[in-house]
Amino acid sequence: HPIVQLQNVKRIYTLGENKIYALNGVSFAIKKGDFVTIMGSSGSGKSTLLNMIGCLDLPSSGKVKVNNVDLSKLDDDGLTAIRRNNIGFIFQQFNLIPTLTALENVEIPMIFNGESPARRRKKALAMLKNADLPLEYANHKPNEMSGGQQQRVAIARALANNPPILLADEPTGNLDTKTGHNIMELLKELNAAGTTVIVVTHDPKLEEYAHTTIRIQDGEIIE
Ligand code: ADP
Ligand code: ADP
Repeated sequence: HPIVQLQNVKRIYTLGENKIYALNGVSFAIKKGDFVTIMGSSGSGKSTLLNMIGCLDLPSSGKVKVNNVDLSKLDDDGLTAIRRNNIGFIFQQFNLIPTLTALENVEIPMIFNGESPARRRKKALAMLKNADLPLEYANHKPNEMSGGQQQRVAIARALANNPPILLADEPTGNLDTKTGHNIMELLKELNAAGTTVIVVTHDPKLEEYAHTTIRIQDGEIIE
């Protein structure tokens, strides 16, 4: 089965008298192990789509399945469980906790998962190494690191509990071209190691890294 599947998904926002079809009958399937970019300009429905795939929001109609689970059958706790078990998120703004070190940031999801302090530390170091963060930065706080280094920490944190899917929202939006390229190369490596990678972006440069491109415009898939 596909790892992500959308069937005729609509997401309608109501603004006073107006109905906005942010997603207007979207269908596609993403295979396990794929590297997908979802491309579209501002207002095309990317964030709404990201919220669907990320189990953060449910469709007005139609079906979303993640790892073959139909999300419409779930309550909030069920959605949270599916999200925790299946999806690691990274963002344009890195979203690291500024008062914690790189290592401690990566340990956060493992605390929620009930891992012991010793195991957390060991695993977090391995995840940082896997994300090619030089070891000497493990005890640095986010403001003592470059943007590229912060995104590496965010990637290590996203993968801390080994989710099958990495969902990236404009992951290079705050990075210079070269650093952005390095981060995309890291995502390619992680994909080659088995993680399904889904990158949502307006940046046409990111298309070359993906195996599959899904193009969205005005809430509809055009390619
Ligand atoms: P993108 O991420 O590609 O910029 P969005 O998914 O944010 O697109 O938005 C798609 C459409 O839905 C836009 O017309 C936007 O104005 C509208 N929209 C998004 N969120 C809301 C909301 N909470 N309430 C009303 N309209 C919204
Ligand atoms: P990267 O390619 O990993 O983003 P850069 O070439 O941007 O690295 O940065 C080189 C070095 O300069 C980094 O190792 C980092 O320690 C330091 N550095 C860069 N930007 C910042 C910043 N905003 N704050 C603190 N240190 C920084």
